[in-house]
Amino acid sequence: MPIYEYCCPKCDQNFDLLRSFSQSDEPAKCHECNVEAKRLVSAFATFSKDYSGLSAPISGGGSSCAGCSANSCATCN
Ligand SMILES: [Zn+2]
Repeated sequence: MPIYEYCCPKCDQNFDLLRSFSQSDEPAKCHECNVEAKRLVSAFATFSKDYSGLSAPISGGGSSCAGCSANSCATCN
């Protein structure tokens, strides 16, 4: 279910509502002022926000230690 963001014209507060597609065009009221809020950009735009998919390199895992290259010294195990 998509999240829609609304902005209250009276108190200028943003709030999010989880609504179905069929409800997306229905008016949403600010909880504070009970006035109809204006819908902002749909959440689909924010979902595609630049997301860093970088994963940290996995250390360890059977590689040799700093003291040898044969993976067989005392510090390797
Ligand atoms: Zn308000």
